[in-house]
Amino acid sequence: RNFGGYSFARATYAQDKVGFYEMQTLYDTCQKFDNIEFYNEWFVTSIIHDGQRFCGITAIELSSGNFYSFKAKALIIATGGAGRLYSFSTYALASTPDGLDMAFRAGMALKDMEFVQFHPTGILPSGILITEGARGEGGYLLNKDGERFMKRYAPSKLELASRDVVSRAMMTEISEGRGFKHETGVDCLKLDLRHLGKELIIRKLPAIREISLKFSGVDPSNEPIDVRPVCHYMMGGIHTNIDGATEIQGVWAAGEVACNSVHGANRLGANSTAECLVWGKITGELAANYILDGKPPPPFPLHLVATEEKRIYDGIFRGTGSVNPYEVRQELSEIMNEKAYVFRNERDLAEGLKKVRELRQKSWKHVDDKANEYNTNFTNVMELDSMFRVAEVILVGAIERKESRGAHARTDYPDRDDKNFLHHTLAYYDTKEPILKTHPVTITKYKPVERKY
Ligand SMILES: Cc1cc2nc3c(=O)[nH]c(=O)nc-3n(C[C@H](O)[C@H](O)[C@H](O)COP(=O)(O)OP(=O)(O)OC[C@H]3O[C@@H](n4cnc5c(N)ncnc54)[C@H](O)[C@@H]3O)c2cc1C
Repeated sequence: RNFGGYSFARATYAQDKVGFYEMQTLYDTCQKFDNIEFYNEWFVTSIIHDGQRFCGITAIELSSGNFYSFKAKALIIATGGAGRLYSFSTYALASTPDGLDMAFRAGMALKDMEFVQFHPTGILPSGILITEGARGEGGYLLNKDGERFMKRYAPSKLELASRDVVSRAMMTEISEGRGFKHETGVDCLKLDLRHLGKELIIRKLPAIREISLKFSGVDPSNEPIDVRPVCHYMMGGIHTNIDGATEIQGVWAAGEVACNSVHGANRLGANSTAECLVWGKITGELAANYILDGKPPPPFPLHLVATEEKRIYDGIFRGTGSVNPYEVRQELSEIMNEKAYVFRNERDLAEGLKKVRELRQKSWKHVDDKANEYNTNFTNVMELDSMFRVAEVILVGAIERKESRGAHARTDYPDRDDKNFLHHTLAYYDTKEPILKTHPVTITKYKPVERKY
């Protein structure tokens, strides 16, 4: 199947439910091994190390509410992306940045967090993804004049230009008055699949049809779907080398939470689960060999467990406050959507940062539900705590990158500036604000060139 930015149809697929089948296969395969132990429904809160080497983690068993520390020899962080930082998002509700934040608080750098992917087709009003496969099968985007506007932006690739290009074209159409108004008042464009015919839609895009019918009341074989760009992927993540190793010995990161930079500033469709497979294998083998090497583990710094316990129980669980954390979470994600979306500029980003910092000062750190078992109120407030730190990293990185590259499009700096910005952004934790550094980009076979479709 064709996806955006491809030069040939190279995405293998299973109808439009690829992830579903991948997860089933992975889970089935894991069941065949007696030596894989699952800790289902545990919430990891911190990574413990002695400054150089990994020692363990702390975690809450959600079914009992008990807090534990685990001594361990190696860790692979695979906690996924954090797209729920944005209010209009394709991600699962649990996709908050607690994994990114854990590494950040433990002193590891977050890299290139300003590069956030906005997928062109989030259905209105929910933001649920309408897969690029819909355009891969021949779906069109239309503006309010009924025009297939992508021909003006990407004459050869049309709707299958890369996601950042299509999303920018859509937002340009909207800002120039050629968008539609959804019944909720939100600006959008139309994704037209009618010409594909009902039979093909049912055979190849059944999930899209079901999503449109259930979440928008639209049968795509009869009516176009209302869509707009939606937060879909984080190119940035925990800074790793090409083998997925982090700055702490014994800790690797793989999957969307990691930034080994395979996607550069803009991931192409279907490359993420491929990344999970490749770096799952690489980091898995390296971590296993590291353990088999049998170096004695460093002494376990118990005082860090006590510090973490204090942070979450005194600071959050027993926190006193009057401001509703769910409203704060909603407001935070709306600020991100408004100020650090497809097109960015200095004024919006600075305003976004100011608003996020002001919001953070409010007294939202409290948990009303004091139950031990499955206390989602507690985990939600811990997630919010991590959202603030990582939102700030995205905003300061985006302010600092005064150029346009990949998914980071600045209207005040519309060109790519290799002279000043051909580098990675690294953000390190500090109690006041993130400390930004740069890291050189390794260029091997492919030199950066202007993308033209
Ligand atoms: C709707 C949608 C469709 C997509 N379609 C495609 C596609 O077709 N092809 C493609 O290549 N990519 C696709 N992507 C992107 C791709 O699915 C993700 O990048 C990829 O699944 C990430 O996998 P992961 O294993 O790194 O993280 P995840 O699959 O997000 O898994 C992370 C896991 O870590 C757990 N976790 C997080 N924090 C904690 C904590 N503190 N304690 C304990 N556990 C924790 C989470 O519960 C979760 O189980 C899609 C993404 C979305 C949102």
